[in-house]
Amino acid sequence: MTGPSLTFWGAAGQVTGSCHLLEWRGRQVLLDAGLFQGRREASRKLNAEIPFNARALDAIILSHAHIDHSGRLPLMVARQFDGPIHATPATRDLTAIMLPDSAHIQESDYRWLQKKGRAGPASEPLYTMADAIHVQELIEAHPYRRPFRVADDLNVTFRDAGHILGSANVDISITGLGDTPYRVVFSGDIGRWHQPIIRDPESPTGPIDTLIIESTYALKDHGTQDDAKAKLAEIVTRVAARGGKILIPSFAVGRTQELVYALHELLHQGRIPEVPIYIDSPLAVEATSVFRLHPEIFDQNENFISLGGPIFDDKMVRYVRDVNESKKLNTLTGPAIIISASGMAEAGRILHHLSNHCGNPANAILFVGFQAEHTLGRRILEGRNPVRILGEERDILAEVVKINGYSAHADRNELRQWVRNLGGPVKRAFCVHGEPESLAGMKKLLEEEGVGEVIVPSHGEKFEL
Ligand SMILES: [Zn+2]
Ligand SMILES: [Zn+2]
Repeated sequence: MTGPSLTFWGAAGQVTGSCHLLEWRGRQVLLDAGLFQGRREASRKLNAEIPFNARALDAIILSHAHIDHSGRLPLMVARQFDGPIHATPATRDLTAIMLPDSAHIQESDYRWLQKKGRAGPASEPLYTMADAIHVQELIEAHPYRRPFRVADDLNVTFRDAGHILGSANVDISITGLGDTPYRVVFSGDIGRWHQPIIRDPESPTGPIDTLIIESTYALKDHGTQDDAKAKLAEIVTRVAARGGKILIPSFAVGRTQELVYALHELLHQGRIPEVPIYIDSPLAVEATSVFRLHPEIFDQNENFISLGGPIFDDKMVRYVRDVNESKKLNTLTGPAIIISASGMAEAGRILHHLSNHCGNPANAILFVGFQAEHTLGRRILEGRNPVRILGEERDILAEVVKINGYSAHADRNELRQWVRNLGGPVKRAFCVHGEPESLAGMKKLLEEEGVGEVIVPSHGEKFEL
């Protein structure tokens, strides 16, 4: 009888496209079905070519809702996958908004390219809105720490990964292969300790046969973190006093809710003046509704949460879905805070706000997340002037500020802490979800922590377990 095997079909040698195939006794389970992101041509090829038979999969286990982990679920459905998708309840609810959003972006990008006469096979949407919606019919939700059966001889337990709402690590136990169950742990993306709203990362403890672990920031120290809340209070107070507006480009899911939470708490504590706060992004509005549905997984150790009041609702906080209402913000007078997507100011409504308000020195543009190279966010942050916004050259006269330390990913020390909390021993580990240098860094870290054998798999590489 052949033993279990593992094949790495994504996030191997790179960050995105998380997708690992676990086979045992003629059965197949997929861990994540993530989208490859990056250069259009290269990622298109990787995304479209599924190197296994989706229809033959017994189940898919989803670690969390981020698109680089969930973004190819609709494609699996389009390729006849019809089995259960296992996820936590909050992950299920987040995918219900994020996957249709992903389908919508692909469809509108394609139409735009068609209009410009630049559409080709490489820009065709990978799946339809209907595929994205159909995913919901397949999801079976399981709360943290409740073991569930995927097959007669395979059980799984989710534990809180502390990365985004609903994120989990996946603890797999296969019976009947030896005297003791064979244990595979997939870390998913590992979060940070003391993040607002969500709980701290939890490690599955005890001996592990095979560990699959993310390596995003295995070489990075998030470093001296600003006291984010104190800095936020200082900026809001200062800019409001001069009558200015604060524009915050922010990821719709996660970061926006953290900001609303922090601003609401500051208002509650009287540490900032009463300025109106606009959340101007339909996806962020939807995502906030999902947060509202899941107070059971909030961190009850946080003061503001333990008060038990509404976290995301306040008389100063307004959620803007309607386009016309969004446009009205252009004529808004007096101080205000506008939080809008996208997080790197590459698309979305934030572009209109930047274009309208960047020329006024009373205003401020506040960055609260990583700004990748070649994005508008990065150019503004680097102080380039003028910059091109919506096709026009604009001078940035508004103050540009950044709060450091916001990240959803564990850094080097936190990854080490997570590994130590496993308690061990770990027989074999595979490092995934990182750039080549980070993967090498993770390998070294795991060897220092006494892991028996550490492997950095390449794309498509298969291992007998
Ligand atoms: Zn993630
Ligand atoms: Zn990820």
